[in-house]
Amino acid sequence: MSTEHNLVFLGAPGAGKGTVSKQVLAKYPLAHISTGDLLRAEVAAGTELGKKADALMKSGQLVPDEIVAGMVRSRLTRDDCKAGFILDGFPRTVAQAELLNDALKALGRKLQMVVYFKVPDEMLIQRLTARLNCRGCDAIYNKLFMPPKVEGICDKCGSPLYQRSDDSLETAKSRLQVFYKQTLPLIDFYEKSGQLLTIESTSSSEILTRLIEALEK
Ligand code: AMP
Repeated sequence: MSTEHNLVFLGAPGAGKGTVSKQVLAKYPLAHISTGDLLRAEVAAGTELGKKADALMKSGQLVPDEIVAGMVRSRLTRDDCKAGFILDGFPRTVAQAELLNDALKALGRKLQMVVYFKVPDEMLIQRLTARLNCRGCDAIYNKLFMPPKVEGICDKCGSPLYQRSDDSLETAKSRLQVFYKQTLPLIDFYEKSGQLLTIESTSSSEILTRLIEALEK
């Protein structure tokens, strides 16, 4: 049994990767590395990298592989990754998966498991367009399936909730197309390496239970 839990969460936007990541972190001391969050922080800080990423993110396109892989490479060297990590939303292309393999090899580490969150398209679109995020603590809500107790306010920290600009119907649809074209080939890639665990479920608690079973095996 591996002592490090080095995980990749793979799935279309809206598949529940962020929600399940937060639930896993309540049980395991892992670093949560969401490339979407890292990129949004660069955009908010107005860095050169953020300026390059901004328009691509707004239109639902992918940011170039080298830029994202560079961010992940440096993030993986931080102390909080020692017990393991969840890569949430990275890799998203086969080229990124190869860059990740190189980066892990250089660090003397390897992936334990790649979890594919398989969710039907209609559910993804419904979830994305109804998703709400907290400005304060990054909690995730959904107007339809998991509304906050008070409209527009986070139950956990009281900060205002907002809708991500790329969660509009039009951009959500292009993000799904990008997923099928550029990210789905990764399923084959990781299946061949024997690291893939596919979980077909729309319930985050069921996904969590199945994932923990697999980790504790
Ligand atoms: P997410 O929060 O994971 O849905 O990502 C939001 C946006 O950030 C995506 O639509 C892409 O524009 C960009 N992004 C996040 N992760 C990656 C990645 N691994 N490769 C390229 N672009 C990414």
